[in-house]
Amino acid sequence: MNVVNNGNLKIAVQKKGRLTDKSIELLKLCGIEIENYAERLVVSSASFPVDVLFLRDDDIPEYVQDGVADLGIVGENVLCEKSSTLDILEKLQFGKCRIMIAAPERFDISQPLELEGKTIATSYPKILQSYLDENAVTAKIIELSGSVEIAPALGVADAICDIVSTGNTLMMNKLKKAFAIFESQAVLVSSPVIMQDEKKAQIVRELARRIRSVLSARHSKYLMMNVPKSSVEKITSIIPALKSPTILPLADPEQVALHAVIPTGHLWNMVDELKQNGATGILLLPIENMIE
Ligand code: ATP
Ligand code: ZN
Repeated sequence: MNVVNNGNLKIAVQKKGRLTDKSIELLKLCGIEIENYAERLVVSSASFPVDVLFLRDDDIPEYVQDGVADLGIVGENVLCEKSSTLDILEKLQFGKCRIMIAAPERFDISQPLELEGKTIATSYPKILQSYLDENAVTAKIIELSGSVEIAPALGVADAICDIVSTGNTLMMNKLKKAFAIFESQAVLVSSPVIMQDEKKAQIVRELARRIRSVLSARHSKYLMMNVPKSSVEKITSIIPALKSPTILPLADPEQVALHAVIPTGHLWNMVDELKQNGATGILLLPIENMIE
């Protein structure tokens, strides 16, 4: 692949698949806008010194290892299956999935030892083999690149080992989940040589800082309400604010506006108590970014 050496930081993301939209969305929230990327291999961002490379996810670890890309966004499952030793800069909290053992309903398994002597079909032979080794189990592994779930019905395997999300595919093939052997999410990986280029290292540090602020904003909400001046202390004690709340004057001298950043999911536990203490006009807003 001929990528222009324009000094821009090169980030590899999945071209078309389950990680694509969320990867682009994360970059966008970090101020890296990319437009018209459909069907293109490399797209430069107009807003940040970055080129985005669109690749098959399986190829991302190698391109980053070789320095063709400086950074990559890829699933931990792919990294591990490729035995990659790339540094993980950030876990990105999307693309979460589990690699599980599943077997026909009649073959009721609940623990690794029950796989002894069996044949297991998988697209993840390395991850499976190291799991079997850790559990001192000997089994035969059949590597398939897709449609792993039909292997037991075809009589080629006793069990399968594959990514399971809803379980619908398993059900259609009369398979039952046994247990998970690997938990995965999308991660940001970096090339081993990137930090030797001071200009690029600086962009990477800035990007990592932005990613952290986007991710921590997802765990927080911005709470706003009007409260009687007399209840400010009581209400402040109810709110699990991350920092001291902001109090603003209102036209009504008896009332103030109270704003606070709270952890996501906490409003419903305290809404009755807030109202009992005279809070009105309670609003909860998403936060796009939280700069530390
Ligand atoms: P490519 O054409 O890029 O090779 P692919 O078919 O190998 O794509 P996808 O199915 O798009 O890959 O999955 C990409 C990644 O998304 C997986 O490697 C995994 O990390 C993650 N993922 C999250 N949920 C699931 C799921 N339910 N099934 C499969 N992968 C999932
Ligand atoms: Zn793939």
